[in-house]
Amino acid sequence: MSRKFFVGGNWKMNGDKKSLGELIQTLNTAKLDANVEVVCGSPAIYLDFVRSKMDAKLGVAAQNCYKVAKGAFTGEISPAMIKDVGVNWVILGHSERRHVFGEENDELIGQKTAHALENGLSVIACIGEKLDEREAGITEKVVFAQTKVIADNVKDWSKVVLAYEPVWAIGTGKTASPAQAQEVHDKLRAWVKTNVSEAVANSVRIIYGGSVTGSTCKELASQKDVDGFLVGGASLKAEFVEIINANV
Ligand code: PGA
Repeated sequence: MSRKFFVGGNWKMNGDKKSLGELIQTLNTAKLDANVEVVCGSPAIYLDFVRSKMDAKLGVAAQNCYKVAKGAFTGEISPAMIKDVGVNWVILGHSERRHVFGEENDELIGQKTAHALENGLSVIACIGEKLDEREAGITEKVVFAQTKVIADNVKDWSKVVLAYEPVWAIGTGKTASPAQAQEVHDKLRAWVKTNVSEAVANSVRIIYGGSVTGSTCKELASQKDVDGFLVGGASLKAEFVEIINANV
């Protein structure tokens, strides 16, 4: 089954109206591979602005959300609010949420996933091992456990993209080699086949994230089980267009 290539941008806590407006203008007018689904993760405060400026063929994502619709949860945003400004995606379980902000609780990420999906959002669900875990030889154990909690909370897999992002590769300039990425993606797909279904294993996009650049994207994209990217630093530059067009 062919899987539509997916390129997410994760702007993190970067940009302002001026610079994001310029970036959006670049994306709106660039010649982008029509066979690629593009979704940009905006800071929450700019979601409305970004959605209003971005061409309708390009998706927008929030970078996090909470597990309930509303209430006394200072500082949080809900899937209902994200939908209310016309945004249809959310990134969940990003390693910076897990490890910088202490949201290490897999159960919470599972609950957020369920709630986001129930409220009509699509989810970029992030998983990935830390350097000490890779060095200890427990990469599979870690990513399978993270994937299980997500899988337990998903009914409609067409609304989920799995983002494998080794923590040691994020923002470090140290991209996983194409072989390293392929190895984990292959194992993840096999896990999905065994634990969810063969149909879902064949259709779910498993994207790679961690220091992807214009110069590393083509070889990574050529790997059989790499169905796209989640791009941080390079998504803020015109280089993002090259990454979207990695297969051209
Ligand atoms: P990076 O970030 O491309 O800057 O490594 C990727 C991510 O955090 O999604």
